[in-house]
Amino acid sequence: MLAFPNVYFAKLTPRGQFTNMAAVTKEVKMMMDPNVDPFATPDPANAGEVPASLGAKDIFDLDRVQLLNAYTCTECGRCTDECPANITGKKLSPRRIMMATRDRLEEVGANINKNGSYVDDGIYLLKDHITTEELWACTTCNACVEACPIGIDPLSIIMEMRRYLVLENSAAPSELNATMGNIENNGAPWPYNQMDRLNWANEL
Ligand code: SF4
Ligand code: SF4
Repeated sequence: MLAFPNVYFAKLTPRGQFTNMAAVTKEVKMMMDPNVDPFATPDPANAGEVPASLGAKDIFDLDRVQLLNAYTCTECGRCTDECPANITGKKLSPRRIMMATRDRLEEVGANINKNGSYVDDGIYLLKDHITTEELWACTTCNACVEACPIGIDPLSIIMEMRRYLVLENSAAPSELNATMGNIENNGAPWPYNQMDRLNWANEL
């Protein structure tokens, strides 16, 4: 039955289009604006404001459509059959990502039923239910999204959890950190100074 609302709320934007994070976009715009004073006194209206967490560590950080996705999954396995990471033997199954999210939802539901409201159980979707190895095995190809007959998007959950790892834990794989550092310093993913970029042409 949940397939009907799930298809209704399915993503209609192009598959490869990711959402920008408003907080990060704001920081980048400030960095690029020469008129912004980085040492300005913060607006007193925002004093004491706790910055929102970036990415997703637990189901509380996922949106309602992602949670609906988890309850809607029929566990048919079409997504995992198409997943190139799974086919090449990596420890990733988009079907299991949806099942693990639903398991965590059930766990939190039982916690609320028992205590009246949620009491921190020290368990999180990230690491306790879904490992970082699974998250980084994903190639973000969208094959699982394409394959799902009822519009479920396992990749959006994977991306939110990766965002948490990178932005909150600074825990990106070393290869990715090196690439991002090179882009920041050299304007390209390679570890060469911009002045040396055409050196290869002199070797011909
Ligand atoms: S987006 Fe990730 S999880 Fe989905 S099929 Fe591609 S590699 Fe597998
Ligand atoms: S294809 Fe869709 S319904 Fe089937 S297991 Fe994957 S996410 Fe669930």
